Amino acid sequence: MTVHFPFQNSYAALPANFFARVAPTPVDKPRLIKLNRPLARHLGLDPDQLATPEGVEILAGKALPDGAEPIAMAYAGHQFGHFVPQLGDGRAILLGEVIDQDGVRRDIQLKGSGPTPFSRRGDGRAALGPVLREYIVSEAMAALGIPTTRSLAAVMSGEPVMRETALPGAVLTRVAASHIRIGTFQYFAARKDTEAVKRLADHVIDRHYPSLKAAERPYHALLSAVVGRQAELVARWLLVGFIHGVMNTDNTSISGETIDYGPCAFMDQYDPATVFSSIDEHGRYAYANQPRIALWNLTRLAECLLPLLADDQDKAVTEAQDLLGAFGEQFNDAYKGGLRKKLGLFTERNDDQLLAQALLDTMAAGRADFTLTFRALSAAAGGGDAGDVCALFEEPVAFDEWAVRWRARLAEEPQSAAERARAMAAVNPAFIPRNHRIEAVIQAAVTNDDYGPFEELLSVLAAPYEDQPDFAAYADPPRPEERVCQTFCGT
Ligand code: AMP
Ligand code: MG
Repeated sequence: MTVHFPFQNSYAALPANFFARVAPTPVDKPRLIKLNRPLARHLGLDPDQLATPEGVEILAGKALPDGAEPIAMAYAGHQFGHFVPQLGDGRAILLGEVIDQDGVRRDIQLKGSGPTPFSRRGDGRAALGPVLREYIVSEAMAALGIPTTRSLAAVMSGEPVMRETALPGAVLTRVAASHIRIGTFQYFAARKDTEAVKRLADHVIDRHYPSLKAAERPYHALLSAVVGRQAELVARWLLVGFIHGVMNTDNTSISGETIDYGPCAFMDQYDPATVFSSIDEHGRYAYANQPRIALWNLTRLAECLLPLLADDQDKAVTEAQDLLGAFGEQFNDAYKGGLRKKLGLFTERNDDQLLAQALLDTMAAGRADFTLTFRALSAAAGGGDAGDVCALFEEPVAFDEWAVRWRARLAEEPQSAAERARAMAAVNPAFIPRNHRIEAVIQAAVTNDDYGPFEELLSVLAAPYEDQPDFAAYADPPRPEERVCQTFCGT
């Protein structure tokens, strides 16, 4: 039986300077850790075939499926504000593209599949821990309804990778609308290759924004559309307490998906200054800084597109600034609208923002857990015990005072308590991938080869908005001794 991938590759048909052709490096003894069967079916792949030894060899980069055109994509990027003219896929290889059941073109990429011409000094490999982290968090984001790359499979490579110590190696199969980043545009713009920038922009319009082909000024429309999707995406992150951790321009997808889960995390206690990444010393990518950074990154994209916007440079700059100027309002609309829903408000009033901000300030002062507060609020709106929310704050009185204002505001709306509670529970998750849980999963896998905790966590996170009484403990924040304050890239 051969494993069939219905590849229809388009990126590999672009000019040769867009990528390097390179095959994965075979690994010793691949072993399947996890196969995302529903996703496989959605991609038109047969999960039973993928789970065979031959399928697992493909997922580990030991064998190539028919029709694959393996490439490492070229890109540049600003890393923590510093421009690097050549990054590229140093440990990832795109096997090809398939059209999923919704008619959407999806990249199938192996991450950790060996060195490429872009590896610089890296080994092209990934360690098991970061692979499990990316698998868990990307699938959790998908279940939360937030645009994201997906995880099709994780396999052990059977080979150790050398980090600070020797760690088990693994390969993740990542699925994305595409792996084109702001940094991909920067790669060509830095080389003053306007022809390539245009070619890439056309490819992106075709692939991610086809309706813009008919626009009067398609490249203006493209910038505007990417700005809109990033504004929406970052708002969604803030509304669930997500911190990306490494919002470099090479980790910003042009399609508006969350990409490159490295030292990312969800916050427990609400604190807008929260930073998780061990390499983010100055808090550049702190929780509350993310909208500002997204706009900074989009400004780098706009710079790349200038030659396509107008022949006259000054005119192009003015037009780009105009388009970037829409970010603030688009972000605010998405974020404020989202907060209103989290509070159970069906209508819009002028002081709703003050009400929402007052709660956030009270949460920050009272070290309340972000996720639990909103979930308990949902229950309280339906007639549940308000004491459950109160108990989350160090200063319960401050919450009580806020709750009086909130109740008064709710009373102005005709919806029933049950209806409101239902709507709130659909936007305020009970379960997020809490860092201490992820760490425990990785510990069990790495030290005991035990994947029970990984499977259980994945299954809980697949239904984040449902109360799952048997798994209620997964909603709990870490005990003080379980708190994880830093996450690492694991590169
Ligand atoms: P990341 O931090 O994963 O976004 O990666 C930033 C850049 O470093 C990208 O060009 C990666 O391909 C490259 N890189 C990260 N880890 C490795 C590795 N182990 N081997 C080769 N290249 C790597
Ligand atoms: Mg990256």
